[in-house]
Amino acid sequence: MNLADLQAAVGLRTPIRHQLFIDGKFVDAESGETLATLNPHDNSTIADVALAGRADVDKAVDAARRAFPAWSRMAAADRGRILLRLADLIESNAEELARLESLDTGHPIKDSRALDVPRTAACFRYFGGMADKFQGDVVPVEAGFLNYLLREPVGVVGQVVPWNFPLMFTSWKMAPALAAGNTIVIKPAEITPLSTLKIAELMSEAGMPDGVVNVVPGLGSVAGQVLAEHDGVAKIAFTGSTATGRRIVTASAGNLKKVQLELGGKGANIVFEDANLVAAVNGSAWAIFHNQGQACIAGSRLMLHERIADAFLEKFTALAKSIRLGNPLDAATEMGPLTSAQHRDRVLGYVGVAREQGGEVIAGGKAPANPELARGCYVEPTIVRAKGPQDRIAQEEVFGPFVTVLTFKDDAEALAIANGTAYGLGSGLWTANLPRAHRVARDLKAGMVWINSYKRVNPGSPFGGVGQSGYGREMGFDAMREYTQVKSVWVNVDAQIPPWYPRG
Ligand code: NAP
Ligand code: MG
Repeated sequence: MNLADLQAAVGLRTPIRHQLFIDGKFVDAESGETLATLNPHDNSTIADVALAGRADVDKAVDAARRAFPAWSRMAAADRGRILLRLADLIESNAEELARLESLDTGHPIKDSRALDVPRTAACFRYFGGMADKFQGDVVPVEAGFLNYLLREPVGVVGQVVPWNFPLMFTSWKMAPALAAGNTIVIKPAEITPLSTLKIAELMSEAGMPDGVVNVVPGLGSVAGQVLAEHDGVAKIAFTGSTATGRRIVTASAGNLKKVQLELGGKGANIVFEDANLVAAVNGSAWAIFHNQGQACIAGSRLMLHERIADAFLEKFTALAKSIRLGNPLDAATEMGPLTSAQHRDRVLGYVGVAREQGGEVIAGGKAPANPELARGCYVEPTIVRAKGPQDRIAQEEVFGPFVTVLTFKDDAEALAIANGTAYGLGSGLWTANLPRAHRVARDLKAGMVWINSYKRVNPGSPFGGVGQSGYGREMGFDAMREYTQVKSVWVNVDAQIPPWYPRG
């Protein structure tokens, strides 16, 4: 199907953008190369997308450098106003963006409408409002001196994002960086570039000056690597796997650019024996199965107190088996395909790993039998009981609709297991015991903890991890600190300083 026909078939009013976005214009790659982005529902090609190489990244960085002086000196309120207009435009194009995101990633349209798009608008709106409220400081130093602190943008920021929430992560990365006065070159994941390109188009409509935002879809090993190494880039902000995070750090060393890393996770979701089982079952299913489990903060280790494990699993398994798999563009679908065939194979590979180590597959573990889904990247909701907390499925990030079940006998053991991986991103716990809730929250090795809930995010609340889950925080005032650097200015107001070198 050609692009125009496809557009009509999926109910898109406006063209699917598939070129690089550099200096305010959609352009082909210098090399003329493209890469197909696929619809994971049936692996059909959506569009051949321009593939950025070194020359294109150089052009994008140059454009961002040229745009930086005017953008960084613009009144903060004016920068904010553009982001606020963008938030409005995202809302007036909500259905368009939701369909595009579902088409390219496999997110159920129900989720794209209710979560991805509103969260993207909310993030731009929050940081649009933040632009003129994030301020410097005055330090009470010795008499006669005024010392004030400027929070200055760092310059051109390189941003590299993964494929699991491409639209939402575009806002998490762009909004604070722009509010703080930086200019941007962003590389979406090669398999999900479309929504980021659409945001670039809406940016221009919102009045964003040319060159402030540049989008370079391309391979991580080429465009991403070039961006991470680039001498013209002052900071690299990365979301993705821990292995790539390490490569980013190495690549950044040449000009010692600032680095921010949002990496993998192996979220512990702990259900104590006094938890409200109905709420915990539902919340735990959401924790792992939302977005087909392709979430860094997924509750992928379901830790059950041994006294309630059987009762919990009975309800949880029934719920998992009832989740409706289907075409992401169908409003009744509760779980779509994984975002690529390669990733589906990787996830299914973990079923074999689990069995080899004595794991028991309680549900799923295979592609669905439904012939309508046979060409897509579908995996049934999968529940596997591990033999022990050191098994690979209890230690490694699977990043799919695959939950590893472990049991514990008391709080101390729960904490030891929960903290027993290299990661430390999101964790959750379910209990009716208030002191226990706060005690466990305190003792968990994690950047985020949810009590009697899971996976809450908000533009005001810091998001990020510890350990192998990375460093730095997105969202809130922390994000503004990440995207600025402090300049301390000393003014001699009326200090009488005796000369250091008295001469006559
Ligand atoms: P990935 O393979 O690390 O890729 C992430 C991004 O990095 C993609 O745009 C990729 O490009 C690019 N990339 C690959 N190699 C690169 C290199 N040498 N230099 C620069 N960039 C490079 O991760 P993924 O498999 O796409 O995403 C899943 C991972 O992201 C999981 O581990 C998940 O936990 C993590 N994640 C973390 C957070 C968080 O906030 N902590 C949020 C979401 C996801 P191409 O894909 O185009 O090759
Ligand atoms: Mg795709």
